[in-house]
Amino acid sequence: MPGFDIGNLQSVIAVARNRGIDIVANEVSNRATPTMVSFGDKQRYIGESAKNQEMSNFKNTMGAIKRLIGRSYSEPEVKDFEAQFIGCQLCDVGGEVGVEVNYLGEATRFSATQLYAMYLGKLRDTTMKEIGGAMSDVVISVPGWYTDRQRRAVQQASRIAGLNCLRVLNDSTAAALGYGITKSDLPEDTARNVVFVDLGHSSFSVSVVAFKKGELKVKSVAYERGVGGRNFDQALLDHFIGVFNDKYKIDIRSNNKAQVRLRAACEKLKKVLSANSQAPITVENLMNDVDASAMYSREEFVELIGPLLQRLEKPINSAIADSGLTNEEIHSIELVGGSIRIPAVKQRLTEFFGRELSYTLNQDEAVARGCALQCAIASPVFRVRDFVVNDITAHPIRFKWEAMSGSDDDTSLDVFARYNAIPSTKMLTFYRKQAFGIEAEYADPTHLPPGTNAWISRFDISGVEPMENGDLATIKVKARLDLSGVLNVTSAYTVEEVEVEEAVPQAEAKEGEEAKAPEMRKVRKLVKKAELAVTQASQCLDAATLTELAKREREMHTADDMVNATEVAKNALEEYIYELRSKVESEYAAFIEAGERQAFLTQLTAAEDWLYDEGEDTTKDAYAEKLAGLKTLGEPASERFREDRERPKAARELRDTI
Ligand code: ATP
Ligand code: MG
Repeated sequence: MPGFDIGNLQSVIAVARNRGIDIVANEVSNRATPTMVSFGDKQRYIGESAKNQEMSNFKNTMGAIKRLIGRSYSEPEVKDFEAQFIGCQLCDVGGEVGVEVNYLGEATRFSATQLYAMYLGKLRDTTMKEIGGAMSDVVISVPGWYTDRQRRAVQQASRIAGLNCLRVLNDSTAAALGYGITKSDLPEDTARNVVFVDLGHSSFSVSVVAFKKGELKVKSVAYERGVGGRNFDQALLDHFIGVFNDKYKIDIRSNNKAQVRLRAACEKLKKVLSANSQAPITVENLMNDVDASAMYSREEFVELIGPLLQRLEKPINSAIADSGLTNEEIHSIELVGGSIRIPAVKQRLTEFFGRELSYTLNQDEAVARGCALQCAIASPVFRVRDFVVNDITAHPIRFKWEAMSGSDDDTSLDVFARYNAIPSTKMLTFYRKQAFGIEAEYADPTHLPPGTNAWISRFDISGVEPMENGDLATIKVKARLDLSGVLNVTSAYTVEEVEVEEAVPQAEAKEGEEAKAPEMRKVRKLVKKAELAVTQASQCLDAATLTELAKREREMHTADDMVNATEVAKNALEEYIYELRSKVESEYAAFIEAGERQAFLTQLTAAEDWLYDEGEDTTKDAYAEKLAGLKTLGEPASERFREDRERPKAARELRDTI
């Protein structure tokens, strides 16, 4: 039962098994995989291999996928803010932001949802290798501030990657679940309140969670979407661009590649400064043959990022205030996220909370573990200690509709308030004679990134008829905010008041008394009359496009597999040539007739020449065929050699048995 923590910099896979939860290491044994996709002339590179392309192929290498999925290119935060962290060309792809990259030698556009799907496909492959079989169900973490559109986009990306996302889980809630399920001493009655703080690569979150035995309830949340490790890197980058410009007279801003390399050096410097009071930064041949270097101290760094750290205070205060808890009522402050390692961050957080911090969770893996647990809890086939997760929504949702002519009824209602529970179902009543529509939107756009479309969905309810006597029909509309925080109208139907007879409840007959015949009475009740059709329009992909994208993803995956298999076949051939050549001269020498030997070597040289000429770039089958050809030469020699080796052993065994 896998869970994916999709980070902006790197992602972590955890799987729940009967014996516990394991983190899945990737193909190079790392416990986190870079959240990156890169495009080349022959194939895509995803995860570690994309990271390796970051410098040399930065125009076609995409990070920050998590910040872009389910958003529009026109949003100022996307165009102006996110673009500074991205080497690729951003553009609009069917209403969503995407990139234009050079893939297979052609300018190609992919939406952020497609990029996310490609990346999920990589995590899926890594997981399948570990569990030794297919996977479908998964739980994926997202920031609590994700909108309906972003959550749907994650679900759709999962479908494109052939996965079934059981729940889109808020990342701080995932960390809280991981905390709760391992604590055997949670109270039965008075809740234990714990604050979870996550400072990752791109954002900061605070959430206050109340734990009781077997359950957690999120009480309040707050975010700073614009402060994380990458912003510290950016501050260092801006600083050193200035320093090196003065020192070496180089205009780094005019050179994208130099910026990418300097940014990487800045991240490294930042990390070194977490453990040292000063450190050098060096970039060889940064540009114009200049080897740039400088010394930098932790003190300078702390001063540089001071204004960013100050921005963490507001969400802390707001989450604590919203929780209604006093400092004494808070049990502990648990920290997660990679940027927590910065000593100045710890110090400022201690000041803002006015108390000591706690580090009982694994800061890099807690979210993934929580996701895997949630997947196990949600799955009917997996037995795990039940733990109830009561999450909340950060964004209040309003429904709007057109007034009926001539009525002065309300035309809007805040159906799900801020901090409404998820999942949650609300029943609304309408009086209508004909079809009508409801628009859902975010009620308080101040919590959304600036420029985000506050509109969520439109629900059209059709098949409405007036009552037989011409009166308005009474219509019930069921609105649901599901487990993933996604809004739907799950059903709509007409109800009718009917008169029914029912028995009047009466006292039980005493012993020896004869039971009286039940008294009946007439009551009026609302009963369901007819189901109505609901159609929904939202900002996500339609079913046909989704199917098409899933097909395209499978084709690209197959093509990548083919390229990799071809590479393997080519390497196998190359290796065989070298191995055989050295053995012909040594081990096998005695088993090849002198006359044959020269012909043998000539064949090997011919195969090698072919490899560097027309065989440089050919098909898997061509390599396999060549290898098979060489093996018809090599195998008899190797067989004779093996037999000769085995003979004394066999003779010895024979002797022993006599
Ligand atoms: P997000 O949760 O924001 O989407 P993420 O989950 O990918 O991003 P994390 O893995 O929690 O982020 O943290 C990565 C960040 O932590 C990076 O900015 C990285 O530079 C920073 N980081 C990691 N180790 C250290 C360290 N020793 N000192 C300072 N920063 C560090
Ligand atoms: Mg994270």
